Amino acid sequence: MKGQATEAIVLRCSEFRESSLVVQLFTREFGRVAGLARGARRLKQYRAGALDQLCVSRIVLRRRSSRGLALIDEARLLQPFEPLTLPYRAALAGFLVARLLLDFVREGLPQADVFRAAVDTLATIRSGGNWELRAHRFVWELIVYSGYGPRLDRCARCNRPLPRSGRLRFCPLAGGLLCPSCPPLSRVAASLSAGTAKLLGHLTDVTTTTWQSLRVQERLNRELWRVEAAVVRALAEQPVHVMTLLAPPPARQRNRVATTA
Ligand SMILES: [Zn+2]
Repeated sequence: MKGQATEAIVLRCSEFRESSLVVQLFTREFGRVAGLARGARRLKQYRAGALDQLCVSRIVLRRRSSRGLALIDEARLLQPFEPLTLPYRAALAGFLVARLLLDFVREGLPQADVFRAAVDTLATIRSGGNWELRAHRFVWELIVYSGYGPRLDRCARCNRPLPRSGRLRFCPLAGGLLCPSCPPLSRVAASLSAGTAKLLGHLTDVTTTTWQSLRVQERLNRELWRVEAAVVRALAEQPVHVMTLLAPPPARQRNRVATTA
């Protein structure tokens, strides 16, 4: 059986038996693949961190017809990811990328748009660019490309136009924003300002790059993380803890932490 070369993001890696590794990969060509790297912990073709979490590597795979693990013949590091060299929250954003890909991408289904978005997000995190804005965009790219684009132009329940100021609610179960008269369908709903709703318009539109010039105030940034955590929680059917850690605490609470430290 001939090996197939592909680019892949390492989502998770665990030790197996004495010297092998079981690796969850998100590949450009084959979607998610679980692979076995036999003897990886002692063989030189796997060294230099090519199977470390969140690295982008060139992998040679042999996929068997049965639903078992693919065999990883070679792994060559293309882009390292070193969380210990990054600011804490930037590293968390990297782990969020892995967590969301594990929850959302399916085995054997290629998702080139999501792959590109994930690689770009990791590159922005590594380079110290505006990783937080990139991470927000990644969350929405993943949601939209997975077929759950939210309704933002009108109320997702009554279809009436939304007010341009004041508070709104985002209800994942209803599939988008709600006007002030419509109650949410579940408790997993997030309150947000009209300003944050406007940001969502840019972040969720995968046909444009207007999101790149957004400037997100801290209060709106916090609201974005809350809305995204609510949507992911509803779609993944479980809370994603790292998203709670990424939402910065309100300023008052932070001061209190600072004075008691
Ligand atoms: Zn309504």
